[in-house]
Amino acid sequence: MAEAPAPGGDLFSADPLRALATLEALVPVIEACRKCPLGHSRAHSVPGEGDATAGLVVVGEAPGATEDETGRPFVGRAGKLLDEILAAIGLRREQVFICNVLKCRPPGNRTPEPLEVAACSPYLHRQLELIGPRVILAMGLPAAHALLGGHAALGELRLKLHRYRGIPLIVTYHPAALLRNPHWKRPTWDDVRHARRIYDGASA
Ligand code: SF4
Repeated sequence: MAEAPAPGGDLFSADPLRALATLEALVPVIEACRKCPLGHSRAHSVPGEGDATAGLVVVGEAPGATEDETGRPFVGRAGKLLDEILAAIGLRREQVFICNVLKCRPPGNRTPEPLEVAACSPYLHRQLELIGPRVILAMGLPAAHALLGGHAALGELRLKLHRYRGIPLIVTYHPAALLRNPHWKRPTWDDVRHARRIYDGASA
């Protein structure tokens, strides 16, 4: 079992996000954020949405074009597939919390830059701290690396139970990757069923 370090856990630096006591309080801060260049190219920030007390949090990579237009996470084709994945384990979108590592769209949907991830991750860490889920589903490598650190390949990270600050974390494919590679749907099904067992209170 792999235990993640506490990212950004500097004892000697005051974290202003800790003063924000709810997910709602984070939204205007994210909307006003210009900590990285994406804050100047986005149409809308995409903080995330769902149940503030969710037992399952889904973390993806970054908003795409439709997310940028709407300000909502996981909409469009990948979002529809995520809805189907959640439905397959008996959950509706409203019952979980869905967000991304980056809250603003990288131009052309390029891979997030390390500096962007470093600038934006404190929002994700605070969201997870406020929600306190029973299990985290990291979809895609950027989400896994942002939460666990390291540079391992997705194939090495799947099928293992990780922990993010003590919370069980499962790594699986991003729905957008499943649209390109349908043969990954079966292993994704295995991963989300694992997450569902933890969600249900099975021993992690
Ligand atoms: S991506 Fe994150 S750090 Fe960059 S401007 Fe948007 S909210 Fe701020």
